[in-house]
Amino acid sequence: MTELVKRKLEARPAPEPDPGDPFAAFREVEILDMQMAFGFRHSLGKLSRFFLALEERKLLGTVCPTCGKVWLPPRPVCPDDLAVTEWRELAQRGRLAVGSLSAYSLKTAGGDRQLMLGYVEVEGASTLILQQIRNLGAHALEPGLPLKIVWSEEAVEHPMELFWFEPA
Ligand SMILES: [Zn+2]
Repeated sequence: MTELVKRKLEARPAPEPDPGDPFAAFREVEILDMQMAFGFRHSLGKLSRFFLALEERKLLGTVCPTCGKVWLPPRPVCPDDLAVTEWRELAQRGRLAVGSLSAYSLKTAGGDRQLMLGYVEVEGASTLILQQIRNLGAHALEPGLPLKIVWSEEAVEHPMELFWFEPA
């Protein structure tokens, strides 16, 4: 029989419905082979200095001159009082606030490496930054884990891939 939908890879029948599942009639799944490619120029705008500093192995946040809060990721304007912030170089160490181990890997995350993400409380920052955690070794991905920044020795596709955190 000829497939009527060329991009259809698979149709999975619905499993036995759980009692009371309001979506029981919507659990059949069709999987398509979709390939999308597009390119565009993306300005990093007022945050550009943050990304350019990563190439110099510096981590920059912004500090609010009014309330003193240190934003990382940086913000050009403090959302609490609308003051224009100032750049500040931050320490390259911190602690894990919360982490997650993904079941999937990303091409941009090193290919076959299982992706670990964490919200990191960088020393001196008032906010958390989401970044990759790598080379956990025997450490558990638990809150409070001391972390340090490690810089990529290789060229990367996006400046956010220039660094990640590892146990300190
Ligand atoms: Zn402020």
